[in-house]
Amino acid sequence: MTNPDSRKIRLILDLRRGGVTNTRVLGAMERVPRELFIPDAFKDKAYENVALPIGHHQTVSQPLVVARMTEALKLGDRMKVLEIGTGSGYQAAVLAHLCRRLYSIERVAPLLKQAEARFSRLKLTNITSMTGDGSRGWPEQAPFERIIVTAAAADVPPVLVDQLAIGGIMVVPIGQDDHDQHLIQVRRTEEGVETMDMGKVRFVPMVEGIRAT
Ligand code: SAH
Repeated sequence: MTNPDSRKIRLILDLRRGGVTNTRVLGAMERVPRELFIPDAFKDKAYENVALPIGHHQTVSQPLVVARMTEALKLGDRMKVLEIGTGSGYQAAVLAHLCRRLYSIERVAPLLKQAEARFSRLKLTNITSMTGDGSRGWPEQAPFERIIVTAAAADVPPVLVDQLAIGGIMVVPIGQDDHDQHLIQVRRTEEGVETMDMGKVRFVPMVEGIRAT
């Protein structure tokens, strides 16, 4: 079997070829061991550029999508960031290398528990996470300079726009029909929002309420 390092280098080259040029983003993706976030049955595919199942009918996104979303956030290392949909914790781990503090919300309690164990193992101490309904955001901690939503919403969620600082950026997949989802970059301005379509994607839907088991 090829060693993980050479597979990882190949993946980083794939991301560059896919149009991701930000060296901080590529550096963060190089530092996070994706195999730790993948169930045993799929570990051999950890450095392939594919989405993989993580249980509970959820998936960890394809690395290129993680990289493009992270790049579109234009993160600064002093920023306070909110993620909706912790899932495996992989996207969160990448973000944690690029911002001051990450708040992450997951509705499926057992997924969050596993993600939190990974954060401790990797000593990612700047992540605060909770089980909850991310469609309500995290009002006690708002405003956030950046928000990333990793489950598809029907429309740009007004509640989350309210929790975004003026000048802030949110990246969110929009469209609950599996075959017609677009990644949208939203900028909050003094007057309202400006949006940019980043192209087609495929995410699991954002679901309201929490699940304990
Ligand atoms: N960022 C994740 C991708 C997870 S897939 C990763 O890197 O692995 C999307 C996740 O969003 C799922 O785990 C799903 O349970 C969660 N989710 C869906 N609706 C949600 C909601 N309303 N609040 C919080 N999490 C939600």
